[in-house]
Amino acid sequence: MIVPFVNNPRFLNDSKRIMKEFAENVFTSMMEHARVRYGLPENFHVSLFVSFGKNRVWHQGGYFRDTGQPFVDIALNRLLWMVPYGSRFRIETSEYDYLTKHKDFANIYGTWKTYVAWALSHELAHALMDSMLLNTELVDLDKFFDSRTRNDRRPHGLFFQSIYRDLRVTFVNGVEYIMSEQVAANEVKAKRVYTKKVITEATESKGGRLVTYKTPEGVVLGTFYSKPGQKVQKLNLETGNFEDTAHDKLVEARKELLAG
Ligand SMILES: [Zn+2]
Repeated sequence: MIVPFVNNPRFLNDSKRIMKEFAENVFTSMMEHARVRYGLPENFHVSLFVSFGKNRVWHQGGYFRDTGQPFVDIALNRLLWMVPYGSRFRIETSEYDYLTKHKDFANIYGTWKTYVAWALSHELAHALMDSMLLNTELVDLDKFFDSRTRNDRRPHGLFFQSIYRDLRVTFVNGVEYIMSEQVAANEVKAKRVYTKKVITEATESKGGRLVTYKTPEGVVLGTFYSKPGQKVQKLNLETGNFEDTAHDKLVEARKELLAG
């Protein structure tokens, strides 16, 4: 699948703001939920970091060794391009094989919001577990976890799973987040996309031509596949599949694309 890379600064800033605000809101709700669920004291806080660094791929959750302050740090750069589209995709959590086999932790379909909520639920579970083990005053473990669970302290063991499951079931699995911000981001996209100058990139593929039209800023307008004697096909960004257009010639398909 071809991922449109959008490098317009205004677009990026809008998308980052929208993503960060959403992450902070969901995180606040998760913390309020955990506070009630485990009777956490009012002065207990977990620091949230939302990173858009290009080289940052991994999320982290735990506590700072020097201060003991718990934190969650999620890396969202790879998802930025999705903000204006609101497409649904498969969220793979397959790095934890034994977890994905369990129905509560299985891979799920959703939008970038589902992904953000998923990443937060996993990392917050680490931060909460570490905090509860580090500070024995924080939570009465005997009250909330049976002995087998509270004694399995592996990073993704039963203790972790118990906290993670609660967050997953409440904030991720089967939860549909409203995508209203998409409209604002789409307006920005629309302004950027329909500029006059269009850059064409073409490659030969299976006896036909694969053509991508971009703005000078690098915004992908559309990708077509054309082969003599058959309808021009257009790449559907949501499904990643090529679909027939009404046109036999690329130039007509391109005209329709640019007319918007
Ligand atoms: Zn983990």
